[in-house]
Amino acid sequence: MTDLRIGSGFDVHRLVPGRRLFLCGVEIPFELGLDGHSDADAALHAIADALLGAVAHGDIGEHFPDSDPRWRGADSFELLRRVWAMPVFGNWRIGNIDLTIIAERPKIAPYREQMRRRVAAALDIFPDRVSVKGTTTEGLGFTGRGEGIAAHCTVLLLPKRREG
Ligand code: MG
Repeated sequence: MTDLRIGSGFDVHRLVPGRRLFLCGVEIPFELGLDGHSDADAALHAIADALLGAVAHGDIGEHFPDSDPRWRGADSFELLRRVWAMPVFGNWRIGNIDLTIIAERPKIAPYREQMRRRVAAALDIFPDRVSVKGTTTEGLGFTGRGEGIAAHCTVLLLPKRREG
């Protein structure tokens, strides 16, 4: 029997003027950006939480608390790298990542390939293991009104192949 682990992560940040917009570590030209203590990259936060969830090792809020000045303005690409470097992942490899970004605007599709490559680079995997999808909520709710962007991620972990 192969041991498998599945994890899910969800994150939301508010869209505000005067901030740069980062999703999956890619800067997107837009009149608003996501607000938060770090660079507020909701997509990378959802991926990090999905990974942590798969091994039942808390969440990024616990490991990188808002109250800690070290993480002010933090680069979420670096946070994700730090998460994946945790010893708790030592016996695991990533089967696949499936990410959905929920935003009325901007359109995600033009940045999708760049996002896949960026996520893959953070985790030292091939982009073909990373799916990035964008969707709207048809004008409904906070995402539909453009008040914020949400991201949902599912990740599958597989046991590391034995050497030799
Ligand atoms: Mg967050």
